[in-house]
Amino acid sequence: MSLATYADKFARLKVGRVGDHERPHKPVMLLALLDLFEQGAIKENKITFSPEFLELFGEYFEAVRSGSDQPTPYNPYFYMRGDKFWHHHARLGQEAVLSALSGPPGIKALDAISDYVFLDDELFALLRDPASRAELRSVLINRYFAGQRDKVLAVAARESEIANYQRQIDEGGRVAESAGVPEAVRDTAFSRVVRRAYDYRCAACGLRVVLEGGLYIVDAAHLIPFAETHDDDPRNGMALCKNHHWAMDRHLIAPGTDRVWHVTSLLDDRLEGQRDLILLEGRTILLPHEPRYHPKDAALRWREQNLERVGGV
Ligand SMILES: [Zn+2]
Repeated sequence: MSLATYADKFARLKVGRVGDHERPHKPVMLLALLDLFEQGAIKENKITFSPEFLELFGEYFEAVRSGSDQPTPYNPYFYMRGDKFWHHHARLGQEAVLSALSGPPGIKALDAISDYVFLDDELFALLRDPASRAELRSVLINRYFAGQRDKVLAVAARESEIANYQRQIDEGGRVAESAGVPEAVRDTAFSRVVRRAYDYRCAACGLRVVLEGGLYIVDAAHLIPFAETHDDDPRNGMALCKNHHWAMDRHLIAPGTDRVWHVTSLLDDRLEGQRDLILLEGRTILLPHEPRYHPKDAALRWREQNLERVGGV
């Protein structure tokens, strides 16, 4: 099927209605999907209900929501199957259960039945092409968001800048050119690459909380501060929960070149409130699954050397 066919399908999505108001969820999810392709985040025809997808959904949704619209990305993720290009893939042995579903079973239940969504092969090929993406994006905006065009285009322009920088720093070890890139763009891109590399899990305590609105408990911390070396290489980053981020920034804890955590001797284990932090001493750093994101030795060494020690040793 051609680009024109999918342009037509995108223009005729079966959207929910309340009086004259069309629910924006499906076209918003497709705008978010286009940006995931833009970021280079989708390499094969498998789309999951991932934190990065939810985050993009949230950005567009906030720009266009009105009336009683609720940020519920799970609904379009399920119901888009009615539009005939969006297919849930059954987990082994779940084929009959999947095809018998008449309504959404809840996100956890769906996950047990289906592991991902795949698109028509032709559509997947088109979405890998920047010109086709641009065409489909304007179809969605013209058809569903003509009245909010400026807001949607503003989100798309910002996302495109972030996606550019994201691709630069994500290309294994190449130092990105940060000069001239606005801080907000840099920060967001760096955070996304690092959080994703660590699967949204704190490298110290393992805490992992992701909410449907695209919110999560971890930050992306620079190991050598950006102000020192202007290094946004993800190997100069680490995902940490708010507490451990705070403690590392103040040099109370440091990840070492020996791949375990070290704790300052300034903390006192006789103080009940400080014990949890002290217990981190010697614990293994929870590293990303992909070795290409593991922290560089130089960055870990910087942290070790800056750990606060009694007497300044
Ligand atoms: Zn933590």
